[in-house]
Amino acid sequence: MDFIYADVNATHPCSTEHLMQVWDMLQPNQGNPSSIHPLGRRARLLVERSRRSIAECIGAQAREIFFTSCATESNNWVLQAVCARLFFEKRPKLLISAGEHSSIRVPAAALEKKGLCEVVTIGLQRNGQVDEEALLEQVDQNCVGIFLIHTHNETGVVNDVESLAIEAKKRNPDVWFHIDAVQSLGKVELRSLGGGFIDSASFSAHKIGGLQGVGCLYKKEGRMLSPLLLGGGQERALRSGTQNVAGIVSFGLRAAHALHHPDWLGSAKLATQRFQRRLQKIPHARIHVSLVETVGTVTFFCLEGIPRERLLVAFEQAGICVSAGSACGSGTPVPNPTLLAMGIDAWAATHSVRVSFGEANREAEADRVADIVEKAVFAVK
Ligand code: PLP
Repeated sequence: MDFIYADVNATHPCSTEHLMQVWDMLQPNQGNPSSIHPLGRRARLLVERSRRSIAECIGAQAREIFFTSCATESNNWVLQAVCARLFFEKRPKLLISAGEHSSIRVPAAALEKKGLCEVVTIGLQRNGQVDEEALLEQVDQNCVGIFLIHTHNETGVVNDVESLAIEAKKRNPDVWFHIDAVQSLGKVELRSLGGGFIDSASFSAHKIGGLQGVGCLYKKEGRMLSPLLLGGGQERALRSGTQNVAGIVSFGLRAAHALHHPDWLGSAKLATQRFQRRLQKIPHARIHVSLVETVGTVTFFCLEGIPRERLLVAFEQAGICVSAGSACGSGTPVPNPTLLAMGIDAWAATHSVRVSFGEANREAEADRVADIVEKAVFAVK
């Protein structure tokens, strides 16, 4: 069966052309980038070239980029380091939003459970953005870190991290401002990010069509962070472990591709517009966030009164891959916390589906996905 892949926010597939490019670059240079012999030095050059490409995308310096195994590692690293950084008489306070990815939410809760910090979760507005006033109200001398998703992986909504960081630092200049920018790279203009208004940001190669299993952390020059992994001192002693050269090469190529082809997601945006126009005509279909509020490649929706299972079975039968959100251990769907925090009712929050398009998707596929939604609605009538 030919699949229609509409789950790009989970992972953006690699093209054959990209894989061949990675192979061509890697094959003659397969040393350990820490080795001083010629093949080691050649592998090191590849790593450094990618570091520069990624830095260029966010207006940072190459030495502010640290390669990791994934964005989950980058997020965990900063959370743990920020908690360990300062010893307060009172427990330090971390702020996160109710829309955070599990790679922030879960480690933050674990740190709180260990008694290392207090975690304050800031609510969302109906449009999906964090409640900015509520967040800034919480920034006091005890607040050591703010961890905020930049572009939301489910709704596609972008938080105004620049103005929030500037305002937060007026209230507490020492506060560490971290953003999870995994879904922003290649979708949102980030070239002012390296200008220094935030302290750190996480990225991941597989969200922009690179290989899975490689990420990075941008850390502002001069801001101190203790390492999560100790060992051989790779990544300028801040992240030990032999670098994933294949993954890093792939990451650098895709970052450069996104930077030099600003419209690389043009067909994904057209497909999304087409899909949403079709949805608007389908009875029961409810899109949670208006397209203009988002990066333009994702649709989070439900069919009012029609259980999500019905739609998922129809997609499965048609070979359409979408995101169904999470289910509890018994397989029962659980309400999506981001939608609940936006004030969306529990039924809709439990029965929503995410369709996200990427570089290879075309409007004809959007039509096919919409046809299946229509059929699922029609089957109920
Ligand atoms: N943050 C966001 C917003 C994501 O969408 C993801 C991936 O799903 C991650 C973090 C984790 O990225 P990785 O798969 O590289 O660990």
